[in-house]
Amino acid sequence: MPKLSIKDLILKDKKVLMRVDFNVPLNEDGSIADDTRIKAAIPSIQYVLNQGGALILMSHMGKPKNKDPKLSLAPCAKRLSELLKIPVLLAPDCIGPKVEKMAQDLNPRQILMLENLRYYEAEEKPEKDPSFAEKLSKLADLYVNDAFGTAHRKHSSTATIAKYFPNKAAFGFLMEKEINFLGMAIQNPKKPFYAIIGGAKISSKIGVITNLIDKVDALFIGGGMTYTFLKAKGLTIGESIFEEDKISDAKEIMKKCLDKKVKLFLAEDIVIADQYSNEAKTKIISTKENIPDHFQGMDIGPLTIKNWSAALKQAKTVFWNGPLGVFEFPNFSKGTNEIAKTLADLTEAITIVGGGDSLAAINNLKIGNKFSHLSTGGGASLEYIEFGHLPGIDALSNK
Ligand code: AMP
Repeated sequence: MPKLSIKDLILKDKKVLMRVDFNVPLNEDGSIADDTRIKAAIPSIQYVLNQGGALILMSHMGKPKNKDPKLSLAPCAKRLSELLKIPVLLAPDCIGPKVEKMAQDLNPRQILMLENLRYYEAEEKPEKDPSFAEKLSKLADLYVNDAFGTAHRKHSSTATIAKYFPNKAAFGFLMEKEINFLGMAIQNPKKPFYAIIGGAKISSKIGVITNLIDKVDALFIGGGMTYTFLKAKGLTIGESIFEEDKISDAKEIMKKCLDKKVKLFLAEDIVIADQYSNEAKTKIISTKENIPDHFQGMDIGPLTIKNWSAALKQAKTVFWNGPLGVFEFPNFSKGTNEIAKTLADLTEAITIVGGGDSLAAINNLKIGNKFSHLSTGGGASLEYIEFGHLPGIDALSNK
């Protein structure tokens, strides 16, 4: 990358403000359900400490209304402390005199975790208070952004802040790893390159799908988007999730695939249900048939799983985002799980997965170690593939 790396900074005796993405899923009781994102930031954290720097970590957590204590970063500070086996101090806020004092008093090799950045509206809306980023910047000498999961957001702590660190705003190791894998996939993929895109809505994925058609040899579209495509083909789709105003986009995608000779895989059969529930009555039907009234499409069917799995075996690079059915319900998780297992078995291919839901499926199956790269950012990985750059990286100092 033409941007400054954490390795370009002289960290000894410096205070380093590092934006991490500790927006981890929480259990009902407030404990951490999955600490992947915390672990992913450890190489950069450890590097700063080893180089003799003092570390001030900042992150958001959820979408708090006011200063909701349920969305405190305290559990993350505790978990990080357990992982590193050193104390992690927790600030009572992310800006203000008490925080400034704690930052000032921080010694080399110590860590201070700031409270949830989104306790302030200006984090997500920098224009509401341009001084918020400046106040954060006052806490340290150097800035490192290692929060890949939020790098597609132009927020105070991910973008605006960098201008207060001229020639001192760098990316961390996680950011570097993510960009390397995604960059390889989009700029120089080993062919054949296949992409699987699932999820609920076509509207949030049109950009990335359109862009991928220029790069991939085959495109697999599953999940809720299927039904807008089936409707575009003139079928009736019962109660299935569907976006009326995206029918023309679905037609456009099918045409572009034809023009570019990209093989488009849509479900050949589907699992339909008489209600949106795990206990629903189900049927498997061909997608050449109409979906009966009062039924909705919930998952790809067994023939689709079989044919997609066979086709995917040819791939040398695969990018996957989004579940292929309503995988939260065990009875409709088969498509997502079986395709995840197929990808896990592709030992010769580069397999890259982005997006919380696809990752959750992989983690449930305990097959994460069989993938080349599990991206910590769903939206960020899609936007990087779509646009080729991200605001959180653009804002950093040039090398
Ligand atoms: P996204 O955030 O767009 O990747 O969407 C993820 C969501 O898509 C998950 O919560 C799935 O339950 C949902 N989804 C996948 N397939 C379907 C479907 N056939 N009908 C309704 N929702 C679906």
